[in-house]
Amino acid sequence: MSEKLALHGGPPIRKEFLPYGRQWINDDDIKAVTDVLKTDWITQGPKVVEFEKKVADYSNTKYAVAFSSGTAALHAAAYVAGITNGDEVITTPITFAADGNCVLFTGGTVKFADIKKDTYNIDPKKIKEQITKKTKALIPVDYTGQPCDINEINEIAEKNNLTVIEDASHAIGAEYKNKKVGGLTDLTVFSFHPVKTITTGEGGMALTNNEELYEKLQIFRTHGITRDTKKLQKNEGAWYYEMQTLGYNYRITDFQCALGISQLKKIDNFIKKRRDIATKYNEAFESLDEIITPYEKKDVKSTYHIYMIQLDLGDLKANRKTIFDAFRAENIGVHVHYIPLHLQPYYRERFGYKKGDFPIAEAYYNKALTLPLFPKMKDEDVNDVIEAVEKVISYYQK
Ligand SMILES: *Cc1c(COP(=O)(O)O)cnc(C)c1O
Repeated sequence: MSEKLALHGGPPIRKEFLPYGRQWINDDDIKAVTDVLKTDWITQGPKVVEFEKKVADYSNTKYAVAFSSGTAALHAAAYVAGITNGDEVITTPITFAADGNCVLFTGGTVKFADIKKDTYNIDPKKIKEQITKKTKALIPVDYTGQPCDINEINEIAEKNNLTVIEDASHAIGAEYKNKKVGGLTDLTVFSFHPVKTITTGEGGMALTNNEELYEKLQIFRTHGITRDTKKLQKNEGAWYYEMQTLGYNYRITDFQCALGISQLKKIDNFIKKRRDIATKYNEAFESLDEIITPYEKKDVKSTYHIYMIQLDLGDLKANRKTIFDAFRAENIGVHVHYIPLHLQPYYRERFGYKKGDFPIAEAYYNKALTLPLFPKMKDEDVNDVIEAVEKVISYYQK
């Protein structure tokens, strides 16, 4: 009798745990990877170039540089944006740690601007309030796959001579005013972590329409070293290379990019499935007062990287933690995105951020719950989640 018991002391809705996100790898993906493993190229080779070209084309952007992770791509973007000691960069508090960390890697200081109540994306009005003489760049995030207010943000950047690095880790394939993200800002970053829209295991990419930024991204990925004879200060022979700046080893492998190329063929179907599941959830939860479903702006198309609800518990005899634990007891892998970055111990201790600094973000966090959503989910999985939501809510109504 080791079976875990759920809310009513009965068996959980699901026997097996349903995670909030998961990759979808098929035999064609596996073949693409093993084909490359049979060649001479194990690290960076022709598949990297092919993947970059395909993602750039898909995203209507001139240039793309693939990296070993989305975080590495963000670090490279922060570097080529020229962020350095003493510069300030404004990002959203509702995001993953990498958006602040990439600024710290370059010696910059992280500032935050609060989010909007409807989309939970960074609020352009709040960005304006945070700008000082030291501000160098903005890092908005297309949170949950919904593009941020790109036009407003670009306008602020232009007026104040700032670089925009759009963290589109959630949003490859998302649309803003009928245009795909990528190339709508100075630099756009994608992540190919397994929970993201397409995966390379670990991996990321930085995109730009600016040739100079593109060349800097490439050099940063490989130790700051160039072999391009047009760029060398001198040339001592065919072996000769120069390290012209400080860079890293942020390369991605050819077999990872083969996986990426194979995954990219399916991206539109992946996004369609994500959107279909989101629609089903929206319809199922419409009648529940306790659940505020995500809002999608009219002029964007979200990729629904995550399906995040806000709990409005009112008179319910529960809080977010009891609700979270109840879902987990049903084997429904709910999650919480994200703990406000300014409240992480490192940011509090280093910069003195405290509770109350970004009230909309904090209120958002207190009510947030992410439900499972990934393209490989079957109808039964989606129905299990809906059933669990109804079960948990009605249990605490009593
Ligand atoms: C996943 C993610 C990243 C980092 O991507 P990795 O590929 O895991 O390094 C950055 N920002 C956001 C918002 C993310 O969700």
